[in-house]
Amino acid sequence: MTKPFRRRDLLGIRDLTPEEIRGILDTAENFREINSREIKKVPALRGKTVINLFFENSTRTRTSFEIAAKRLSADAVNISVSASSVTKGETLVDTALNLDAMDPDCIVVRHSSAGVPHQLAKVSRAAIVNAGDGANEHPTQALLDAMTIREHKKKIRGQEVAIVGDILHSRVARSNVHLLTKMGAKVRVAGPGTLVPEEFKHFVDDGLTICPHVEDAIEGADVVMILRIQRERQDSAYFPTLREYAIHYGLTNERLDLAKKDAIVLHPGPMNRGIEIASEVADSSRSLILDQVKYGVAVRMAVLYLATGGNVVN
Ligand code: ASP
Repeated sequence: MTKPFRRRDLLGIRDLTPEEIRGILDTAENFREINSREIKKVPALRGKTVINLFFENSTRTRTSFEIAAKRLSADAVNISVSASSVTKGETLVDTALNLDAMDPDCIVVRHSSAGVPHQLAKVSRAAIVNAGDGANEHPTQALLDAMTIREHKKKIRGQEVAIVGDILHSRVARSNVHLLTKMGAKVRVAGPGTLVPEEFKHFVDDGLTICPHVEDAIEGADVVMILRIQRERQDSAYFPTLREYAIHYGLTNERLDLAKKDAIVLHPGPMNRGIEIASEVADSSRSLILDQVKYGVAVRMAVLYLATGGNVVN
């Protein structure tokens, strides 16, 4: 069955309805099978052009969008900022307008400042997909996390999800809190007091609890999501040393034993082994970190397809 997806840009999870989220996940599930075929290509986006415009470093997300576009037969162009005119003083909007004048169908953008995709969406005719804007949102990460939870736990509603680490600087945490609370999960966040922002209190009535200790968040959890310390976004010392962070907040087997027996562990990558997550956990069968990366391609195929006019498939 197919039905229209009425949204063009994907700027954040905050804007999406639960039905839209379900529509993207269902479409991704349909695309998933293509990734295990011998010939991993279908003509769904033949003749369409996708530009990956990354102003910030990325390994997984950029490769994943590129592979997703190519598996759907789109022409994918990657723009690295160091080689672009931005370094010659061109404004962001001028860069976007120039790219837009070449008639791409979709521009995937990552930037260190919050709100850049929203700004580009106002001036561009191409659909804009947010691949991470500062500490604001990273919608496709939350969608691929949701797909991983759905695959392994069958549903999102009612799952107890602990999100642990540098919440303050994490766009992954923000997108996940929006998605998980909209879809009926019970979310508990924990980290050093300096890294759990006040704004999260607004979600408290919507199924989010702020826990004083990491152990309280992990206890009885179905899903434990660990976040990296975002040192590139920190302007002061939020905790004494990385060693102390590892001791008080790092996910070890001992801490994970507080969660349900069948709890799964997620991490958006890149992970810092021995800091926020011990290798014994990262390499264990409870860790689904590489499944997240695998589902990321299917999610991005769905997002590119829907943003360029495709129908929801379920
Ligand atoms: N890769 C994710 C992001 O771009 C998470 C991280 O960098 O820690 O936000």
